Amino acid sequence: MEQPAIFSATLGLSYPWHVTAVAIDPDGNRLDITVDCYHGNCFICPSCGSVRPPSLLLPETWLHRDFFHYTTFLHARVPHANCCGENLSLERPWARHGSRFRPVHE
Ligand SMILES: [Zn+2]
Repeated sequence: MEQPAIFSATLGLSYPWHVTAVAIDPDGNRLDITVDCYHGNCFICPSCGSVRPPSLLLPETWLHRDFFHYTTFLHARVPHANCCGENLSLERPWARHGSRFRPVHE
């Protein structure tokens, strides 16, 4: 299994999410994982049922203090869409209940 596949599995990623890059800094005890999502996925508005394509991708950074014993930064571009005054965003598998990833506000 290649490295990205291991991290994908541990993060609980499934389509459309996938790992695009992994960088390990052995001196800094730091791991950077870049995650992206395949384009073309759409949102269904919970209010009106309209199908909405993503209108923008917002960069986010998430931090885990001990992921494979590394301080780990997860970088993702999260698709968003707007409908009925609501901001719809794609579910982030690494943020599921019980996850130790926390958003970093830059
Ligand atoms: Zn709507």
